[in-house]
Amino acid sequence: MRSFLFADPHDISRAAMLAYLKLLLSLRSVRSLTGGLQRLPEALAAGLHVRLGHHAVEVAPHRRGDGAHPPYRVQVVSPEGTYTIGADAVVCATTATAAARILTPLPDRTKDTLAGVRYASAAVLNCTLDRRIASPSRWVLNMARQASAVAIMRIIPGGAQGRGDGLTLWSPGGTVGAELCDLADDQVLGRMTQGAAAAGPGFELGRHVTAFRVDRWTEALPQFPVGHLRRLHELHTQLPAGLALAGDYLAGQNLEAAITSGIRAADRVTTQLAQRHTTPRSWNETRATP
Ligand SMILES: Cc1cc2nc3c(=O)[nH]c(=O)nc-3n(C[C@H](O)[C@H](O)[C@H](O)COP(=O)(O)OP(=O)(O)OC[C@H]3O[C@@H](n4cnc5c(N)ncnc54)[C@H](O)[C@@H]3O)c2cc1C
Repeated sequence: MRSFLFADPHDISRAAMLAYLKLLLSLRSVRSLTGGLQRLPEALAAGLHVRLGHHAVEVAPHRRGDGAHPPYRVQVVSPEGTYTIGADAVVCATTATAAARILTPLPDRTKDTLAGVRYASAAVLNCTLDRRIASPSRWVLNMARQASAVAIMRIIPGGAQGRGDGLTLWSPGGTVGAELCDLADDQVLGRMTQGAAAAGPGFELGRHVTAFRVDRWTEALPQFPVGHLRRLHELHTQLPAGLALAGDYLAGQNLEAAITSGIRAADRVTTQLAQRHTTPRSWNETRATP
């Protein structure tokens, strides 16, 4: 569980643990997208006007809530400069910590909840080898109790023409993941190849690495400690109308959960926008749906 969840099972609430056990039991095979996970957002963005490299620095209620202006203004920094967008509704799909920084209409208590969401940090090493790895499985999960720099390994077969295999190594979360994120590339390589060697003689990689790349994820996976689900429930009841949150920290540490939270957020704001246009109440009076 420590390898898979990037967290110590003792920290996780029973409710979250039951949800993960259900997920694990239904996981009969590992599926990966040809071309990488980025194909999902790329496909979603294909039919939309997406501004890449634009950074939202503040989402605030419009100063003149007179009905002539949209209720929210979003201040954006882009390579071309700073500008403001008026918005009828906002779905904030950043990490929780970024949402706490930029969503000024939120009550302090809600901001504190968002700022308090904990993330596991992780380093990922991708490397190519000058040889093949003799392993009956392409995925290796580290079940050892002692701390190691490697939690999961994936072997990518080199294919024909006698090329060596590729390997992806994921660090665990916790202190080890955070430590690795602070190290230089060569040091991460050293720690992770040392960790891989514990899987058996076939995994002594050191001098067989021909090329490598290290990616660091300081906010890799949100944690679901005891009380997290209760705090999330409160948080949803405190959101002002026209503002919704999306992200894996609301529903689970995976893409499906992140997408589900996005669908819920879109449902929330479209329902509220429909109410706004069909009832005589002002936007500020519209009740937030939990
Ligand atoms: C190494 C690694 C491997 C993983 N592998 C898998 C896997 O195989 N399968 C799986 O299901 N899940 C996997 N996950 C988990 C999955 O990637 C996440 O759960 C998912 O991406 C979370 O999506 P999200 O939209 O909540 O957040 P993110 O993907 O983190 O998206 C948040 C976005 O907000 C943007 N942002 C932040 N602040 C601002 C701002 N101020 N203005 C504008 N934009 C901003 C960020 O740039 C980012 O693009 C993996 C995670 C990691 C770290």
